[in-house]
Amino acid sequence: APADVRNLLLSRIRDVPDHPQPGVVFKDITPLLADPAAFTVLTEALSELCVRHGATKVVGLEARGFILAAPVAIRAGLGFIPVRKAGKLPGATLSQAYDLEYGSAEIEVHAEDLEPGDRVMVIDDVLATGGTAGAAAELIRRGGAEVAGVAVLMELGFLGGRDRLEPVLRGAPLEAL
Ligand code: AMP
Repeated sequence: APADVRNLLLSRIRDVPDHPQPGVVFKDITPLLADPAAFTVLTEALSELCVRHGATKVVGLEARGFILAAPVAIRAGLGFIPVRKAGKLPGATLSQAYDLEYGSAEIEVHAEDLEPGDRVMVIDDVLATGGTAGAAAELIRRGGAEVAGVAVLMELGFLGGRDRLEPVLRGAPLEAL
């Protein structure tokens, strides 16, 4: 993103040390969401990425990804698809398990939300290890759709998520504002 956009967005992200556990610096986006100018700039920047990469739908990753992807979907004129933690979606789902540092997690999508010919952009606030976004990309492909890319507000580069995602994305872009 251009320097002025980056600076505005960065100024509205709060670092919370040792949340939710010791040693983690949590990137809190609630100050950004509370500032309509910053939230608008973020929505427009993510929408531009969707258009640039030819997306036809957007996936939001529960929970903060929902908050960002919904206005992007409206702004870009695209359908919104929720990817949720296992057990939340009521209809027939596809599920994907993935490894966490300790243990594993599982996310789901409604199978009927994905169709051949769809190009889906995955949207979230923070890319950390890349496990969640990678699992979402797998779900999209298993649903018969294509991955247009992954677009996040912020990438925690020191965790190596970009390298882990690369083989899963098969050439689709990872964009971090
Ligand atoms: P990962 O699967 O490791 O890339 O983790 C990404 C998910 O966890 C995203 O949905 C983020 O919202 C959340 N997350 C991971 N690390 C942080 C962090 N330091 N601050 C805020 N959110 C985080």
